[in-house]
Amino acid sequence: MVQKLAAGGICAPSVLQAMSVVERHRFVDSALVNQAYEDTSLPIGLAQTISKPSVVARMCELLVGAEGARTGGLGRVLEIGTGCGYQAAVLSHIAREVYTVERLRGLHEKARDNLRHLRLANVHLLFGDGMQGYAKGAPYAAIIAAAGGEAVPQAWCDQLAMGGRLVAPMALVGGQQVLLVIDKTAHGLKQSVLEPVHFVPLKSGIA
Ligand code: SAH
Repeated sequence: MVQKLAAGGICAPSVLQAMSVVERHRFVDSALVNQAYEDTSLPIGLAQTISKPSVVARMCELLVGAEGARTGGLGRVLEIGTGCGYQAAVLSHIAREVYTVERLRGLHEKARDNLRHLRLANVHLLFGDGMQGYAKGAPYAAIIAAAGGEAVPQAWCDQLAMGGRLVAPMALVGGQQVLLVIDKTAHGLKQSVLEPVHFVPLKSGIA
């Protein structure tokens, strides 16, 4: 899987290393284990999916490439949409602290079970509505969303540190979902629209 990621253009050594350390098969249903290292999203229950490895790697690479992360490494990261906890585990190897929020209690608990044996002391699992971010951990060097909305919640921009970067799937006018990067600079927020993506919807409230 990691060789394919490198061949597909992922260059950051820390990202390739993290993707090789975290065993994706431990995060999917036993019936899907034989597909765990294919570049495909897979169901994780409650109509949600674990993202494709290439998309996880791409988003992580965007985070480590942020202005603020280039010197001294990536600090505190906020992930919206814990799901099964896979991406949080990957992030734990490239960031100093990972705060991850999930709105579905069933998946929040599943992630806790999946991550327990890994004993990742820098991962903080939170149950709540990630559209409000998580103010107690702010400011964040990076914010990464694993679910796609219609607009970037103001709370995410507010909770981003100066020099920090937000990476999120977002719908353009017309409905096409793309990867959006927002950098917080001394001159304001700088936004870049990258490639089309397919993420589950960002929803408000908890369930
Ligand atoms: N990073 C996850 C991907 C899970 S899919 C993994 O590695 O498995 C995206 C997740 O975002 C779903 O579990 C969904 O419930 C969650 N989600 C959607 N809207 C949310 C919100 N407002 N706050 C927190 N989680 C949300």
